[in-house]
Amino acid sequence: MGGTALISDMHGNAAALRAVLADIKDKGADRIVCLGDVVGYGPEPLECIDLVAEHCEWTLLGNHDYAVLYEPTNFNPAAESSSYWTRAQLDNESDVEKRSARYRFLGHLRVRYVDPKLGNGKPVLAVHGSPRRPVNEYIFPDDAIHAVDKMRNIFDLVDGYAVVGHSHVPGVFTNEPEFYPPDEVGEGKVYKFIEGEKAVINVGAVGQPRDHDPRASYAIMYEDRVQFHRVEYNIDETAEKIRRIPELSNWLADRLYEGR
Ligand code: ZN
Repeated sequence: MGGTALISDMHGNAAALRAVLADIKDKGADRIVCLGDVVGYGPEPLECIDLVAEHCEWTLLGNHDYAVLYEPTNFNPAAESSSYWTRAQLDNESDVEKRSARYRFLGHLRVRYVDPKLGNGKPVLAVHGSPRRPVNEYIFPDDAIHAVDKMRNIFDLVDGYAVVGHSHVPGVFTNEPEFYPPDEVGEGKVYKFIEGEKAVINVGAVGQPRDHDPRASYAIMYEDRVQFHRVEYNIDETAEKIRRIPELSNWLADRLYEGR
């Protein structure tokens, strides 16, 4: 019981988000915060914005939120097309109040946030991507082996703990540097904090996991530990909606089944 639920990368997948919110309620977390990419790729961006706005204490700006609100930059064709389609859904809302509330929500998303209530008394840095480039930089599991300088630069900017999303691959980076997927962090997918250590925790993706496990991913952080969770949801529901929308590539439906 207690703790802060960390969710990220819903990507317009409302079926996954609803399942995760129900699971968080079951587990009795005190509050929920969101690390960004509420929209983009998925078929229900408006419902995801409304749910996140209702349930999350604060929410960060992800690269897809930025793309929908301003413009997509360096996006592949499927991502770019989904950004413009998502933007059109926001604009097509006939209820003026709702339309402006959603734009207000997206317009106020933060690029980074240092949360005094997360972790063991030390403030925890929250960003969507990385502490160096908060909105756009990926930290990949392989970086612990192939990009040691990059990891050193990133850890120079971390005082204790940071929480991130963006890569859609959950796990814990330590400054050895090393990467531990949830199955290797400890009994029950619980990573216990060690006095004086530094770690970057990726909570994985609610709406589009890419670690070959199609279940929605999130984590709950307590004073002394973080626990990773996976939640089954109705993938057919989301995939069928994607396939019915011409602007959303069918690949975006297929990948949900494979978790990649
Ligand atoms: Zn994302």
